[in-house]
Amino acid sequence: MSAAVSEFGLIQQYFASNQPGNLSTSLGIGDDCALLNIPHGYELAITTDTMVEGVHFLPNTDPECLAHKLLAVNLSDLASMGANPIAVTLAITLPVVDRSWLKRFSSGLFALAQQYSVDLIGGDTTSGSLTLTIQALGLVKAGQALRRSGAKVGDLIYVSGCLGDAGLGLKIAQGYQCQESAIPLQRFHKPMPRVETGLALLEIASACIDISDGLSSDLGHILDKSAVGACLDWQKIPLSSSVQDYVKTSSDWLMPLTAGDDYELCFTVAPEKIELIPESCSQIGVIEQQPGLRIKKSGKTEIIEAKGFEHFSK
Ligand code: ADP
Ligand code: MG
Repeated sequence: MSAAVSEFGLIQQYFASNQPGNLSTSLGIGDDCALLNIPHGYELAITTDTMVEGVHFLPNTDPECLAHKLLAVNLSDLASMGANPIAVTLAITLPVVDRSWLKRFSSGLFALAQQYSVDLIGGDTTSGSLTLTIQALGLVKAGQALRRSGAKVGDLIYVSGCLGDAGLGLKIAQGYQCQESAIPLQRFHKPMPRVETGLALLEIASACIDISDGLSSDLGHILDKSAVGACLDWQKIPLSSSVQDYVKTSSDWLMPLTAGDDYELCFTVAPEKIELIPESCSQIGVIEQQPGLRIKKSGKTEIIEAKGFEHFSK
């Protein structure tokens, strides 16, 4: 950071002014490390996600949305394992010091952080191309975290919420015309992590993942790690009215199954536990022995390739 603007002043003004509120934080921003108190019998769940300008977001994206999404995607990873978020660190690389940008970024960050009593406990501030990284920390009772590897043949497959709204939101942001654009755009710019759902699934779900790259790709990870296959039922895929309209007009029925950024949870449950599943979730298919992902649609069974967004694919 240039000497003209004090790095410490920046941190103090935009990131250190909120007092830690989570009981786990014993020391927040200001020393060489933060200190966290891990209660006896708990494990610390740790995840990190980076967003790079030009790769994950367009130049001039609203900084409030950026901060929200950066935090939301990290909290979503904690949610998918049934961990309760407690704290985050923030590494931020800035091309210039733009005070109004920083103000809006920090207000977007703290607005979501406070909803979950998550403390910003440290980070790093450097100059360079705009790059934003959050590391999120959460607590989960030892041995209870939901993993990708626990799905068994005969388990039922569920998703929280609806699929494809964020994918439609991206299309709208790129110029697609659609009557009800507000919800898809909101879901694309400001996804909500399904933290409560993840916590509610502890001791119920046999496997769980958050849908960041698209259902087919993310469910594909559960299938790989659990060494099983799956068959979905198109009729049962939960779609908002906007996405239903999109599918009808475009015939692009794969979009809700392959588009990323929904940040819903996809999980599997043994049949004897399905009564315990939150009402906001829908059953969409079943785990089978035969490897691969299939979907029943109009009386036919089709194979779906587990394709999602990959950074190093051509
Ligand atoms: P050090 O050089 O010892 O790593 P820094 O000068 O980078 O420490 O940071 C001073 C304090 O400010 C530390 O507690 C660090 O975690 C915190 N900090 C730095 N940048 C950020 C940021 N972007 N967000 C939150 N905390 C930050
Ligand atoms: Mg130091």
